[in-house]
Parts: sequence; structure tokens; C-alpha cells
Amino acid sequence: MVICFTCNKRIEGQVLTALDKTYHPEHFVCEKCKKPICDNKFRTHDGRAYCEEDYNRMFVAQCFGCGQSISGKFISALGHDWHEEHFLCSCASKTTSQANKCKSAISAKVFSVSSDNEPICEKCS
Ligand SMILES: [Zn+2]
Ligand SMILES: [Zn+2]
Ligand SMILES: [Zn+2]
Ligand SMILES: [Zn+2]
Repeated sequence: MVICFTCNKRIEGQVLTALDKTYHPEHFVCEKCKKPICDNKFRTHDGRAYCEEDYNRMFVAQCFGCGQSISGKFISALGHDWHEEHFLCSCASKTTSQANKCKSAISAKVFSVSSDNEPICEKCS
């Protein structure tokens, strides 16, 4: 007899095995959003299962510039994490137009911070 780890009831039909436990497929849920993780694309943290989305949001550094998760080298600055290539000068010189922003990549060590708490490269500061 197979017992579901979540509801402690007997499983008839499909059994989902994950983390050395057995579940009704609809009872193997993400620890955070409580949605069933049925496509097996889950991640674990401290023995708990999370859907990929929540795992990335909670445990993986995300680039403040592009919103994507960061694997490998990144810059931590101004209370956020950034891909090296996305930590850019936000100086808009004399205009407020996005197109005219300097957008130079900023090396981690040398930059200034604007009144809006945005990074400014050496050249623009
Ligand atoms: Zn169950
Ligand atoms: Zn989730
Ligand atoms: Zn990025
Ligand atoms: Zn600049």
C-alpha cells in the first residue's frame, strides 16, 4: 500500500515519488505557492520542494537590471544584485530621455550614486 505523504491517505492510481516520499500527483505542492508541481520541474531547499519560479525568486540572485536570475559572476551594489553587464550608468546627462542615458558598464569598484539611488559611471559623475 502506498500512502501520500501530504494527506496520509492511500494512493490509488498515479503515484508521484519525490524526495524519497510518495504523493498523490496533486498533493506534491510547492512549499510557497501551494500549487501542484506536476511537471517535475521543481527545486529543493532544506528538504522542501518549490516550483522553479518561487525557488528562483527566493533563493537565486536576480538581476535588478533585467529581472532574470543570475548564475555566475554578479555585482552586489545599492542593495541589489546585478549581472556584470547590466550594472550600467543611469546618467541621463541633460535630458530625461532613456535613449540618451550613458549606459556604460560600471566596474564594481568605481561609481557614484545619483540622488535617485542609481549608479553613475566615473565619466558622468
Ligand atoms: Zn494525497
Ligand atoms: Zn511555487
Ligand atoms: Zn541582468
Ligand atoms: Zn555614464
